[in-house]
Amino acid sequence: MSKSDEVFVGAIDQGTSSSRFLIFDVKGQIVASHQCEYQNHYAKAGWVEKDPIEILDSVETTVAGACRRFNSLGYNASQIKSVGITNQRETTVAFDSVTGLPLTNAIIWNDVRTKDLVHRLIDEAGSASRFATINGLPITTYFSAVKMRWMLENVPEVKAAREQGTLRFGTIDTWLIYKLTGTYVTDVTNASRTMLMDIKEFKWSAECLEFFDIKESELPEIRSSAEVYGTITEGRLEGIPIAGCLGDQQAAMVGQSCFEAGEAKNTYGTGCFMLFNTGSEPIFSKNGLLTTVGYKLGPNAEPKYALEGSVAVAGSAIQWLRDKIGLIFSASEIGFLADSVEDNGGVYFVTAFSGLFAPYWRDDARGCIVGLTQYATRGHIARATLESVCYQTQAILDAMRKDSGTELRRLRVDGGMTNSEQAMQIQADILGIEVVRPEMRETTALGAALAAGLGVGIWKDEAELRQIAQSNVSAFWSRITDEKRTEMLAGWDKAVKRSLDWA
Ligand code: ADP
Repeated sequence: MSKSDEVFVGAIDQGTSSSRFLIFDVKGQIVASHQCEYQNHYAKAGWVEKDPIEILDSVETTVAGACRRFNSLGYNASQIKSVGITNQRETTVAFDSVTGLPLTNAIIWNDVRTKDLVHRLIDEAGSASRFATINGLPITTYFSAVKMRWMLENVPEVKAAREQGTLRFGTIDTWLIYKLTGTYVTDVTNASRTMLMDIKEFKWSAECLEFFDIKESELPEIRSSAEVYGTITEGRLEGIPIAGCLGDQQAAMVGQSCFEAGEAKNTYGTGCFMLFNTGSEPIFSKNGLLTTVGYKLGPNAEPKYALEGSVAVAGSAIQWLRDKIGLIFSASEIGFLADSVEDNGGVYFVTAFSGLFAPYWRDDARGCIVGLTQYATRGHIARATLESVCYQTQAILDAMRKDSGTELRRLRVDGGMTNSEQAMQIQADILGIEVVRPEMRETTALGAALAAGLGVGIWKDEAELRQIAQSNVSAFWSRITDEKRTEMLAGWDKAVKRSLDWA
């Protein structure tokens, strides 16, 4: 085949701390990519926001960067046959349907400004889990519906747009697809994070809409994760269809080919997210986990569900050590520093900067470092930081075991923090099961590309996607004794109590 006959699939990966555009060949190999890191705004304690136009600009910058590289390799953007989107989930945008402009800054998923509103809503609902059998989720600051409601109550421009009938809400997928193609849609995975979708029917739930006071006309149409949503109207990708869309964690699940019930992956990015495939029926958790749509790869495809546990602070704790404390100069230093000590020396760091997520669900928990002695060094703090993410992962896995009745024997991992060998060794030590890291670490983007390729028929089914997603892996096994593990877990439990007591 000559170079000009080859076909490619693009993936926009819009994350919390960066945007990326990657171009994959039909074997799932990255041919060109570009990344643009950015900062969110922290206007007040607990607030995290970002101008949606800046998010869009960052995507366009990365598209231009990757396409320049692609061209320099002798290819042409017209050889990209389809584009997939994967995005930070729950982050909420409000815009005006006439001007197409944002009405306020996007509220990022980890923002806790809605804390008081959430308490009010829980009182009104009678319990946090009132709608969990419809939408799979408890009422917390995390999901989009409470962010929408906060905007309606606090932002005059949003209120005015509602009165004029021009208010449109969306998650980041919706915002990007709307600005790039003009179509107002979302996919089932992103919709399943709003608290407004009935996850069995794949429709906006009348009961949830009424409770949160959101109108259906203010929400996008719900579509599957692999189909043509629209065609890009301008720029370097003009004329190319967007044909795949998955929330970032679900995209990683597809990119790691967790297609069978009982397969699980954990992604360590800004936050940390574990998804456990439960098959074609949702399992409603009794142990503090979320029930979410895993994917639905085509309008007529069978949906797959997942149990999900998230850790609010993962890589962001490392960024905090770098940017706010100055303990390290770069994220990659943390692993070496952690390795400079034999163990945690009795030091535990509960990184509950904005509360604790699954399975604790306490928005009032706060960060604490305990067990310090004169003996403690920078190495112990670094190690305690990595361990914190790994203990929280262990707590989630324990809850998944209870909910699903299945023992997990292997955890597939990806995300920025998995670049650290030391972090993954610590994770294997704490879990006591095999931790498997693919060589091709861009699994989130790959998942979006796979959906987009499927959406236009470049690949035909899950079996073909599994072949493409398989790559070389590194495996990590525990190097500590069961006694040592039990002692470490007991120390962690004591530390978590301090973090919860602080409130
Ligand atoms: P997101 O998709 O949420 O933007 P990424 O998957 O890009 O996140 O991961 C970014 C995170 O990974 C950062 O918070 C950073 O601290 C962490 N990280 C990156 N490289 C390393 C490394 N070598 N060791 C440990 N952590 C790392």
